[in-house]
Amino acid sequence: MTEKKQIILRTEQLKAFYILEMHGTQKIVKAVNDVDLTIYENEIYGIAGESGCGKSTLLKALFNDFVPPLRLVSGKLYYRIDWEKEIDVTTLSPEELRQLRMEYISYIPQGSMSALNPVLKLKETYKDFIGSHLGDQSREEIFELAYKQIQTLGLPKNILDLYPHQLSGGMRQRVTIALASLLKPRIMIGDEPTTALDVVVQRGVIQMLKTIQENFKNTIILVTHDMGVHANIADRIGIMYAGKIVEEGTTEQIFGDPRHPYTQFLINSLPKFGDKNVRHSVPGSPPSLADLPTGCPFHPRCPHVMEICTQQVPEFSYPDEHHKVACWLHSAPQAAIGEGKHE
Ligand code: SF4
Repeated sequence: MTEKKQIILRTEQLKAFYILEMHGTQKIVKAVNDVDLTIYENEIYGIAGESGCGKSTLLKALFNDFVPPLRLVSGKLYYRIDWEKEIDVTTLSPEELRQLRMEYISYIPQGSMSALNPVLKLKETYKDFIGSHLGDQSREEIFELAYKQIQTLGLPKNILDLYPHQLSGGMRQRVTIALASLLKPRIMIGDEPTTALDVVVQRGVIQMLKTIQENFKNTIILVTHDMGVHANIADRIGIMYAGKIVEEGTTEQIFGDPRHPYTQFLINSLPKFGDKNVRHSVPGSPPSLADLPTGCPFHPRCPHVMEICTQQVPEFSYPDEHHKVACWLHSAPQAAIGEGKHE
């Protein structure tokens, strides 16, 4: 990431919690807890982490999709819709938001069936979609736009005459992605778009996302727990743990020089070609987002835990340009580092 790029989406201390009322008591699930993100035009940004760390909720928050019990508790979410100024999109009306969706920012949901109407042929789904966003277009214009895009993305032309259930899971996912990219949105966000697909089909879906990004020079924000997918597609990666970004860097930095012990576990658990050693996954389980540990949320699982880790949330340190990590091993006073149980 050498050239200077324009910021296209930015968050400031974003907090999005699920607030549940249960039998007269309130349960607060801190799924997105103080997240500062800066996303640039023309990049693929990957968000990684185990299940239950808040990745999907962060995507919903970036899409400004706060449906109760999910609430925006505090913080800011800015889109740079015109190059002169940013807009705090949490202040927009539902109609203004509807216009932004799919044209400025689109969402590829987890599970393609939820995005496609099972009782409609795909061309009818395309027609509804185009009609609701582009207004009164003739049938011919709609189908010309749809066919052109289907062909550009290498999908079979007759696919529009089929129902969703007539497609394989991989093909359905590709149609969902095609639909999300139809209006050439500046940002596309995808929630685990390759989950439940076999490796070969997964490769096709990744290639399709890369092609869309290269053609449109837009931005893709992609959530997946699969570090192999991130290695293949992302320019930069944010590692999420317990509702927070704990490390961020270019893909080379994250894979070549991971600093956070959690990131190191995620990378070391990946199989390596020709290496027959047993790979170790992250010990223990992620904490409940409704009952977070004090201090560094990773401390109950961390082999390097120090006293300060149990008391204070670590601040970010910046080992290199574009690279930041929230861990006391890298930002604590020397005295605190000396007390660690290093292995
Ligand atoms: Fe481990 Fe402490 Fe770093 Fe947290 S802050 S990852 S507990 S060393």
